[in-house]
Amino acid sequence: MIEKVATETCVICGAKGEMTIDPPRRTLARGVDPSDSSFSVTIVLPDVQLCGDHYHEVKSKAVVVGWCDDEACRIYGAIGTDSPCGKPYVALKR
Ligand SMILES: [Zn+2]
Ligand SMILES: [Zn+2]
Repeated sequence: MIEKVATETCVICGAKGEMTIDPPRRTLARGVDPSDSSFSVTIVLPDVQLCGDHYHEVKSKAVVVGWCDDEACRIYGAIGTDSPCGKPYVALKR
């Protein structure tokens, strides 16, 4: 059995990541490829890193993890807050 050790930081608060969960959905359609309009781009989202506190809050749905797909961000964050680029995080529905 392989134990997963989180090495990154909590996506909500930036504390040391202790748990890794699967994102609400694994892929995100980014729309049409600007360099070739016959392609649409789908990205694969990384695992969600959480500290112990936020792991429990996400599990109990007190906090909902969203995603900002702006080029400057491409990170997870809590729904209801703004990402560093100023846009709110988008809910990742199944
Ligand atoms: Zn946290
Ligand atoms: Zn952003």
